[in-house]
Amino acid sequence: MNCNDCPRYCNVDRNKDKGFCGGSNKIVIAKVIENFMWEEPCITGGKGTLAIFFAGCNLKCCYCQNYKISHEVKGDCYSPEEFAIFLKSFKLENFSALEFITPTHYSSLLIEVFKSFKSPIPVVWNSGGYETVEKIKEISSFVDVFIPDFKYSDDKLAIELSSAPKYFEIATNAIKQMVKEKGENQFENGELKKGVLIRHLVLPGHVGNSINVLKAIKKEILHPFVSIMSQFVPIKNNQILKRTILPLEYKIVLSYAEKLNLNNGYIQEFSSASQNYIPNF
Ligand code: SF4
Repeated sequence: MNCNDCPRYCNVDRNKDKGFCGGSNKIVIAKVIENFMWEEPCITGGKGTLAIFFAGCNLKCCYCQNYKISHEVKGDCYSPEEFAIFLKSFKLENFSALEFITPTHYSSLLIEVFKSFKSPIPVVWNSGGYETVEKIKEISSFVDVFIPDFKYSDDKLAIELSSAPKYFEIATNAIKQMVKEKGENQFENGELKKGVLIRHLVLPGHVGNSINVLKAIKKEILHPFVSIMSQFVPIKNNQILKRTILPLEYKIVLSYAEKLNLNNGYIQEFSSASQNYIPNF
């Protein structure tokens, strides 16, 4: 079947061709980290996640921190049946969640995986937010927690930095559907067991983009739970975003969030390229 797993609608036969994301008919795993602790506390929980990093991406962010993983499709290849066996080889009860990092372009293959695999712990879908409403509906049968990025309100910026036309409309609709699928967030002992956490990374020189993302979250999303991140670090050879964000830029964005009463979620310590999260504004 031809691939239309994401809003790029490449319609290519991945048995023989590749679309924008570079994915084939196999699931390619670039990295697996046990007890991954670098997410928000409600995601990593007490035991950390089993984090699976998928190779390739349906976005091409020029500032991607996982550039090697997302821009090159290299790693161990699995059919859906093999990947189900691979997942079963872990003692999943030893983790707080099973976390899929950048899985969007493998949506259809992962739907196949979950025909023969049921996770005993919450499945977390950590994505770029560039997804279709149709696929969100389908994957919701096995995803418990969505943590989508909401990167851009400015479509020109989305094209310039991530080659992602109509990002704003697409991400807004995808996140609305995620919230519709999961309902109100459900926590147990501080761990998010079911629901949606929206992430926004503030970019240097683009406070206006951030403010309009926050406005959209306030306007469009029911009971928003938001993580506003300051951890941007410029990558080598990126000629567009060459610096970290300024304390004042972060302060302005946080003030705006407060003004909008978006006070349920996380902010980061400003020094936090090391990702130390502080719960609740
Ligand atoms: S998942 Fe990949 S091949 Fe499929 S539509 Fe998206 S970019 Fe194209």
